[in-house]
Amino acid sequence: MEDQCHVATTTHICYRCVKVMKILYIEEDASYKSNVGRRTTLSSLFIGSPRDMYQQYQDAMALVQKYSRPDLFIIMTCNPNREEVRSELLLRQTPQDHPDLVTRVFDAKFEQLKENIINKGLLGKVVAPAFVVEFQKWGLSHVHMLIMLEENDKLNNPDEYDRIVRAEIPYEDEEPQLYDAVCTHMIHGLCGTLYSRQSCMKNGSCNKGYPKPFANFTMQGNDA
Ligand SMILES: [Zn+2]
Repeated sequence: MEDQCHVATTTHICYRCVKVMKILYIEEDASYKSNVGRRTTLSSLFIGSPRDMYQQYQDAMALVQKYSRPDLFIIMTCNPNREEVRSELLLRQTPQDHPDLVTRVFDAKFEQLKENIINKGLLGKVVAPAFVVEFQKWGLSHVHMLIMLEENDKLNNPDEYDRIVRAEIPYEDEEPQLYDAVCTHMIHGLCGTLYSRQSCMKNGSCNKGYPKPFANFTMQGNDA
């Protein structure tokens, strides 16, 4: 398992590798003092370098030019309390003690998401996907994904949006598993005047604009 973790691609950045790289850089700094002042440009093959990021950005823009703007914007965030993570922890350990484990489980889940959305076309036939995995070191990994669908599967009105998106709390009796997931992960808060210490509270109100009014129907925005 240890050998497998020394892989760094756009979708897999291992916490242990980042630590090893950091130590290597410190050692190199000490032994190459004569290089001070010499300009070095990282090629785009160096994952995460400015040239790599710019190249990826250009590729994404080329997709938009060819297939028109994306139809779906999907965000996937890491859940460190998943059973797969908890079951591997030793006595008195918390997920924070094992960022390597949390990252691996997240990566496996993301592979499954890609399989379902891109290969199996669960939400429609995909002509072009674009995604970025963010591993920002101070928080949990998350993915931003843009999906461009085939012409016949494009979503054009609220009825079609409702086919694949639900913005409601399910009935507990009918869908207990979904009800639990929505109540645990999909509801913002608690915030408001009674919870003024929450991070989203600024000048006495929520900076994300919650609570928002309920809507009886799905509506189309001006720029949709
Ligand atoms: Zn809030």
